[in-house]
Amino acid sequence: MMPTKGQYFTQEKRREREREREREMATNGEETKQSQEIKHQEVGHKSLLQSDELYQYILETSVYPREPEPMKELREITAKHPWNLMTTSADEGQFLNMLLKLINAKKTIEIGVYTGYSLLATALAIPDDGTILAMDINRENYELGLPVIQKAGLAHKIDFREGPALPVLDQLIEDPKNYGSFDFAFVDADKDNYWNYHKRLIDLVKVGGVIGYDNTLWNGSVVAPPDAPMRKYVRYYRDFVLEFNKAIVADPRVEICQLPVGDGITLCRRIS
Ligand code: SAM
Ligand code: CA
Repeated sequence: MMPTKGQYFTQEKRREREREREREMATNGEETKQSQEIKHQEVGHKSLLQSDELYQYILETSVYPREPEPMKELREITAKHPWNLMTTSADEGQFLNMLLKLINAKKTIEIGVYTGYSLLATALAIPDDGTILAMDINRENYELGLPVIQKAGLAHKIDFREGPALPVLDQLIEDPKNYGSFDFAFVDADKDNYWNYHKRLIDLVKVGGVIGYDNTLWNGSVVAPPDAPMRKYVRYYRDFVLEFNKAIVADPRVEICQLPVGDGITLCRRIS
């Protein structure tokens, strides 16, 4: 039966409404997909870091097979030490080693040595006449790894200073000859002093030189709610790390790049 004129218009209106709804749903669907894609891009790295299997894959396929023998030996010695949580991870060691070679670093500083895994990664990367001014309040731990460094024929590159790093840096900046004389600095010690170190290192490292600040994601605690359960030392240093991260991004003297390697490393390239 043919629809009457009135029925036809009602049917047409309904169809139009349905088409409109379909268009709306398609648009919303597209928007949802797009926003999900953006979200996924944003959390991509985070999920990468949180996948233990993927991290293990990186270690087993890229890091361990190419880890220099002395680094492996030092890693195994350190693993038996009660504070082994402090050591630089093998993938970060590989990264540092590569970075130092890429920037042709020769004269370097390390603040926070522990048993010396990052120190060894540095010593292996710099040339035979390269130097590392290494500072730590604890000599005992440094001496645990020292035989490995000696056996590898690298000890002559290291000038180890036992004690707090700040007075050593203060002494260095007293002499204008030291200004802009370092190619690289790695900071991996007391987080409450990172900004104090930065204030001095910025003058000691040359323009174009690099400073690496370690643990700038501080066990992921930088995004944890203040009342989240945290180990005591994580909670204590958390605010200092947050403050440092805010301050470094606002420093026009450096270009920065925060990498989710290890516990987060912020690379600063001095530009003025
Ligand atoms: N980079 C080391 C590695 O690859 O194994 C890890 C360093 S560990 C996380 C931190 C070190 O900083 C400890 O060995 C500690 O004794 C040292 N430290 C703490 N406060 C310091 C200070 N004020 N000056 C120099 N070293 C300090
Ligand atoms: Ca560290």
